[in-house]
Amino acid sequence: MARPVVWTVDDDPEVLRAVAHDLRRQYGERFRVMRADSGPAALDALKQLKLRNETVALFLVDQRMPRMTGVEFLEEARTLYPEAKRVLLTAYADTDAAIQAINSVRIDYYLIKPWDPPEARLFPVLDDLLDDWVASHRPPFEGIRVVGLRWSPSSHAIKDFLGRNQVPYQWLDLEVDAEARQLVQQLEPETPQLPLVLFPDGSRLEEPTPLQLAEKIGMQTRAQKPFYDLIVVGAGPAGLAAAVYGASEGLRTVLIEREAPGGQAGTSSRIENYLGFPAGLSGADLTRRAVDQARRFDVEILSPQELHKIRVEDPYRIVTLADGTDLSCHALLLATGVSYRKLDVPGCDRLTEAGVYYGAAMTEAKACKDEDVYIVGGANSAGQAAMYFAKYARRVIILVRSDSLKKSMSQYLIDQIEQRPNIEVRTRSRVVEVDGETHLECLTILNDHTGEKTTVPASSLFVFIGGAPRTECLDGLVERDERGFILAGRDLIRDGKRPRGWDLDRDPYLLETSVPGIFVAGDVRHGSVKRIASGVGEGSIAVQFIHQYLGNV
Ligand SMILES: Cc1cc2nc3c(=O)[nH]c(=O)nc-3n(C[C@H](O)[C@H](O)[C@H](O)COP(=O)(O)OP(=O)(O)OC[C@H]3O[C@@H](n4cnc5c(N)ncnc54)[C@H](O)[C@@H]3O)c2cc1C
Repeated sequence: MARPVVWTVDDDPEVLRAVAHDLRRQYGERFRVMRADSGPAALDALKQLKLRNETVALFLVDQRMPRMTGVEFLEEARTLYPEAKRVLLTAYADTDAAIQAINSVRIDYYLIKPWDPPEARLFPVLDDLLDDWVASHRPPFEGIRVVGLRWSPSSHAIKDFLGRNQVPYQWLDLEVDAEARQLVQQLEPETPQLPLVLFPDGSRLEEPTPLQLAEKIGMQTRAQKPFYDLIVVGAGPAGLAAAVYGASEGLRTVLIEREAPGGQAGTSSRIENYLGFPAGLSGADLTRRAVDQARRFDVEILSPQELHKIRVEDPYRIVTLADGTDLSCHALLLATGVSYRKLDVPGCDRLTEAGVYYGAAMTEAKACKDEDVYIVGGANSAGQAAMYFAKYARRVIILVRSDSLKKSMSQYLIDQIEQRPNIEVRTRSRVVEVDGETHLECLTILNDHTGEKTTVPASSLFVFIGGAPRTECLDGLVERDERGFILAGRDLIRDGKRPRGWDLDRDPYLLETSVPGIFVAGDVRHGSVKRIASGVGEGSIAVQFIHQYLGNV
């Protein structure tokens, strides 16, 4: 963290040098002393400091300057740094102006020039003011700041990307945060495109894509090699486990992830049934541990990066990524999981990420403080989200189509929900319409039992209605079931026959698809158990078969 700044401004070069010298001698270790020879020059530099989120502890400013008086400067500087102490240096003749400034710009002190000896006439005053400042000062947030609007889908996308990739950031809402407005004003006359992302080095990105942001913060988005023994697509539990096992057993492994490592599990607020963590752990925690473990074994993790196409040129499996790059390998594992199914009701598409969210969108939790939050779905993911949002929201209402949660949710979660007074479960209820101008303002709920429709005001709706695989890019390559889940192993043998095009003298291995050397693990596999432990298990087992396959390539 940069040291807080003590600013001195004086148009007389001799005086300026002397003041700066005295200040550095006395305060140089704790504060950075900066100087300027005019008010406008100092204001320009101050704006840059503000963009870098640096702090100013004190201004020591000459009153009589030709372009801008000391009082005029302090008036402007105060809007940027209201907490900084303000001291005016005056000639004896200007004492009146200084006294008036005590009221108009709330100066903390005025000193009459010359201040020699500083030990007697300068430092005691400044010591006091700086001690005071240090005592009441809260250090600013040191990382990335995101300025945007609560209901903007692009602001949500940036927050979600940073949050899911575990990059700390501070969110500043332009509509409610004075600091956000000030930061945007400083960029005038340009009007920045929102969301605006400010970095600690003073640089910024306006309305960046996740890829631009990832590159700026140093995430790896491009592969280092053109060829790998094993390419794993999807960094959920299945893909991460496969990458850890593969790399730890000597396979050159790259892991390609479209959004953020962790997959669905990474969005869980509390996982309580994963073996070895009796007190439970968050999805973010599990992801961080798994990613560290993979990196320790030299797995390259490319994120955000997306699989677009696969082609087979024996003995290679070639993957084309979204940026057009080709990577080749001998063995490929598909662990692309499932994505949330969309809620197909009027208004939903238009308001997605502007009040209607798929998944837990934990980044929105604080914004829901003291509001009502609606959750659609009756599975564990919905239950975990309800528990999480209940910490912030006034009330959480779970809407579930069946007549009880028992059919779809684990008992441990049902018990927790029952004990939470601000969670209400409405059974046999479903959302039939959502509405709002620029963001969600109300939703209509149909009670299937009574047939009654009610429209309620609402600003947040989180949807958890199961997942569907997104495997269209595999069309014509590997066999899938009618819902898009990938078939593997014994599921490919029909009437004792191997899949079409299969030309090996053996059956597909347990987790091998209809193309030799292309494997599948986790939720995207037809018939898989949709659990973290099952994904981890399948990812690990797949590596065993990958070794057998590689032994014969
Ligand atoms: C909110 C929530 C809470 C849950 N809680 C629990 C729990 O407590 N206990 C439990 O056992 N299970 C839980 N589950 C279920 C569990 O998380 C999943 O079963 C598990 O994550 C599946 O792992 P996976 O690796 O197969 O797929 P996923 O976790 O879905 O990961 C797949 C990854 O592949 C990426 N991907 C997809 N397509 C591409 C592409 N074309 N290119 C590159 N990358 C791609 C995705 O972005 C994703 O990161 C929960 C699920 C949710 C949503």
